[in-house]
Formats: sequence, structure tokens, C-alpha cells
Amino acid sequence: MKLDYKDLGLESKLRLKSGRKKVFYIEDFSDLNSLKDIFKNKKYKIIGGLSNTVISPFSKYIFLKTLLKGIYLKKGKIFVYAGTKLSEALNFQIKNKISCLEFLAGIPQAEIGGLIAQNASAFGISISDVVDKIFFFDIKKNKIYFENATKEFFSYRNSIFKHENLLILGASFKYNFDFYVKEKIKSYVKKRLEKQPHFVENTLGSTFKNPKQYPAGYLLEKAFLKGFRFKNFKFSEKHANFLINLNPQKASFFELLEIIYIAKEKVKNLFNISLELEIEIF
Ligand SMILES: Cc1cc2nc3c(=O)[nH]c(=O)nc-3n(C[C@H](O)[C@H](O)[C@H](O)COP(=O)(O)OP(=O)(O)OC[C@H]3O[C@@H](n4cnc5c(N)ncnc54)[C@H](O)[C@@H]3O)c2cc1C
Repeated sequence: MKLDYKDLGLESKLRLKSGRKKVFYIEDFSDLNSLKDIFKNKKYKIIGGLSNTVISPFSKYIFLKTLLKGIYLKKGKIFVYAGTKLSEALNFQIKNKISCLEFLAGIPQAEIGGLIAQNASAFGISISDVVDKIFFFDIKKNKIYFENATKEFFSYRNSIFKHENLLILGASFKYNFDFYVKEKIKSYVKKRLEKQPHFVENTLGSTFKNPKQYPAGYLLEKAFLKGFRFKNFKFSEKHANFLINLNPQKASFFELLEIIYIAKEKVKNLFNISLELEIEIF
């Protein structure tokens, strides 16, 4: 297993400095055996591509990430290791002319483990709709599982994997042969870019979950927060729920907390709706 100290905040898609954090990287299956002892009585968090996660400079967590990656076709299913980037999986789909995760195309930096843990969805389809079996490791029990992905594992932007010391190692997915998958991927990316800021922006995507009543973006827009700037952060002019770090060199964690607080207060006062964060702060 590799141990490193890294400014994970800068690696996060928000590019907000956190200072160096202790990170353990799984490089080989044999590394799993030492996790129980390393993390016993320790506060830790599992990370993937950090496309949905802010690392606090005050965080006392140690971090765990799997570097196991790769994709192959077996018995009519596609198997993907958790450390594989979404973009790599999509390239594999194009090469083999198969459809599977194209609805997620255009989410930058995300990895398969993070997408499953988060039950990522777009255009009305969730990853839980296409995942078949999940290969995961229970750190406390020191035990590997390869289980059918039942609906009970998942809810809106959530899964059991986010709460129970369960490290996703990979998953198998259903797929169909599809000669037009490349065109479909392009079309999903185009649709995404019509409504959302460009991938190069320092953003974690949707900041708040959609409440039952209205989409969070609509509420933020009605509260005059579309394009609203506070110090080094701004809610995008293109999509009010996308918070952008305008200046990674200067932006501070407190500014982030403040603009989140302002947005929550405005929406609460206007609509009596409490917005809940979709992004996670570790
Ligand atoms: C521009 C942009 C657009 C986006 N659009 C969408 C969208 O349309 N739909 C959507 O759902 N999300 C969207 N997102 C958010 C984000 O990409 C997803 O939530 C994605 O699932 C996060 O994956 P990640 O690998 O970056 O995970 P991280 O941000 O690193 O982690 C996310 C969560 O997954 C857990 N996790 C990560 N890896 C593992 C693992 N191996 N085992 C167990 N738990 C793990 C973490 O503990 C954490 O709770 C967008 C983000 C950006 C930047």
C-alpha cells in the first residue's frame, strides 16, 4: 500500500486548498488485509475522483483511495474496477460499441466507485438502474463481497456505501451492443453544456440536492443568486446551482461556507425551504 501526504483540496474539482492530508492508496488486493488495523479507532474517509467533495483545511480525517482500475467484458456483463475514471469507461464503450453509462457523459474527474457510492444520475437515469453486481470490502469485518446490487442499496444521491465502512472495489454492469454509442455520448455532453458551465470551471456540479417541491437551481435563481458573487466564489450565470471557485490561489474555506450560508438563508426566507448540501465536506 502506498502512503502519501497530499493537498487533496487542490485535487478536488473545486480546487480549494486544504493543506496536506494523509492518504492511503490501495495498489493491490493484498493491501486490503492491513486496512482493519490501520483504520482501527481512526476517523477516515474514502475518496474517489473528488468531483463532489470539498476537503476542509481543518479536517482531521485520514483518507483512503483505491487505485485499482481496468475494464473487461465477461459473460455478457462489463466489469469495471472502482478507480477507473468515467471517461475511461466511456472510451471503452466507444471502442467496443456498447451502451451502459453514456447518460453520465460529461461529469469530469468522477470515478466508478464514487459514481456508485453517490448513486449518480442524469437525464432521469441513475447508475443504480444499470449496475448489476458490486464488489466491495467491509473494512471492519475484513471481508470481501460480490453482491447483487439491490434497490435497497440506493436512494437519491446516496447509498449504503457512503455510511458503513464499505470500500467499493468494482462493479459489473448490464450493457447492450450499440453502434451509435459515440454519437449518444456526444449528444449527452452537448445537452449538458447547453445548461451547465464548462468542465474547465472549478466546480463540484450541483451544490444542493433538489428538494421535493422545486429544483434547487430554480429556487436559487428566484432568490436572485444566479451569477451572485461573494469574494472568490460565484453561483454560475448558466446554472444557479453550480458554485464556482473563481480564484484557487486566493479562495478560502470560510468564503465557501459563507456563500453556502447566504444561499441557504435567502431560500429559507423566501420559500421556507431548507436546502441540503449535495456536495460533501470532509
Ligand atoms: C461539472 C460536474 C457535473 C456533475 N454532474 C453530476 C450529475 O449530473 N449527476 C450526479 O449525480 N452527479 C454529478 N456531479 C457530482 C459528482 O461527479 C458525482 O457525485 C460523482 O459520483 C462523484 O464521484 P467521485 O469519484 O468524484 O467521488 P468523490 O467526490 O471522491 O466521493 C463522492 C462520495 O463517494 C464516496 N466514495 C468514493 N469512492 C468510493 C469507493 N471506492 N467506495 C466507497 N465510497 C466511495 C465518498 O466517500 C463520497 O461519499 C457532477 C460534478 C461535476 C464536477
